[in-house]
Amino acid sequence: MNTVSPTLQALSCADDYDPNSIPVPKAREVIARFLSPVSTMERVAVRAALGRVLAEDVVSPVDVPSHDNSAMDGYAVRFADLKQDGKVTLKVAGSSFAGVPFAGSVSAGQAVRIMTGGVVPEGADTIVMQEHAEAKDGQVSIGGGHRQGQNLRRAGEDLKQGQPALRRGQPVRPAEIGLIASLGIAEVSVYRKLRVAFFSTGDELVSVGLPLAAGQIYDSNRYTIYGMLTRLGCEVIDMGVIRDDPKLLEAAFREAASIADVVITSGGVSVGEADFVKELLNQLGEVVFWKIAMKPGRPLAYGKIGDAHFFGLPGNPVSVMVTFYQFVRDALLKLSGRDPIDPLPAFKVPCTSSLKKAPGRTEFQRGILTRDDAGNLSVRVTGEQGSGILRSMSEANCFIILPTDQGNVTPGTLVEVQAMESVI
Ligand code: AMP
Ligand code: MG
Repeated sequence: MNTVSPTLQALSCADDYDPNSIPVPKAREVIARFLSPVSTMERVAVRAALGRVLAEDVVSPVDVPSHDNSAMDGYAVRFADLKQDGKVTLKVAGSSFAGVPFAGSVSAGQAVRIMTGGVVPEGADTIVMQEHAEAKDGQVSIGGGHRQGQNLRRAGEDLKQGQPALRRGQPVRPAEIGLIASLGIAEVSVYRKLRVAFFSTGDELVSVGLPLAAGQIYDSNRYTIYGMLTRLGCEVIDMGVIRDDPKLLEAAFREAASIADVVITSGGVSVGEADFVKELLNQLGEVVFWKIAMKPGRPLAYGKIGDAHFFGLPGNPVSVMVTFYQFVRDALLKLSGRDPIDPLPAFKVPCTSSLKKAPGRTEFQRGILTRDDAGNLSVRVTGEQGSGILRSMSEANCFIILPTDQGNVTPGTLVEVQAMESVI
């Protein structure tokens, strides 16, 4: 049964909501209204947390660093013993190496040999680097020009005990597992992985390993989608190729929606006789929109089947990746509990190619960003921009984003580029 949600009702009353040609920013905004992140948590060992999202703040159980320590190899001294202009000679009373502190305290006229990370002994308040000291026969001579407290890292300077070191919603990357380990914490709470089921639709599709008959092609979308989902840390459920048969498609949709948080399909959303996806989705759930004013990727369906989110990506291999990158990525990150969601790095550089572009849609052309010998960045377009040419995605390292009103681009014009690396 097709029940229309209040959100969808509100949307269809809005002036600028046209599900037949929705502008790119509007489509993102509309999707975002439907997304509520997973809330189930699990405790995992630090290394197993890599690639996951923190479900709780990580609070520091200790001061970091735990002691005042030296930032240099040198001598720990009492600043009051030094002369601003002129040399003093101090007696070396012992040493403080990383992990082996000096047992006593530094008295007037004394210095302690100290290595980087060594605990600053009691009595000392300044570190003189070894390049500024001359050691001889158990004594050390030090010249003028030092500052009280120099080269010293204070206890709790990086982080005070009880302070959150990391926030809920942050992704756990190599830096974070290192930081968590540095606090002596062995386990953290992360959100459960987002479950994403996906399948390809099309009578022409053949899975790898089988021979192709006339008119058939290999299914590549299940591979790119698998790759992008895996990079985003999702639990992937590959449901294979489903024929363009309404019965089979309906069964696949029902199953996918019952086992996954998100269902992603490719193909079957363009206006062809054998393309049933939109029709079916209208019966099983609700379609929020199905056409975006963009190129490539105009037919992109977003909707809900029960509690599951549904993305009906176009069939063309490039369109699949572009729409995934532009819409699905952020949605999956939000559903996974990421907060905030880092935008993909984007900036303007001169374009060295001439680009064909008609006003009316946002275009995502595939670009190659390079740096010349003088260190200046520029972008050129990968050859042909057909939405079936997957090689253009492989050659590219960025999208060249051309806004709706933009026309043709002449060489030398500044264009916006967006990095691809984190997913592709
Ligand atoms: P459709 O939207 O189903 O009409 O598909 C548009 C184009 O994308 C057609 O040329 C399809 O053959 C192609 N296509 C659809 N699905 C896939 C897939 N899984 N792998 C490679 N090409 C596909
Ligand atoms: Mg098809």
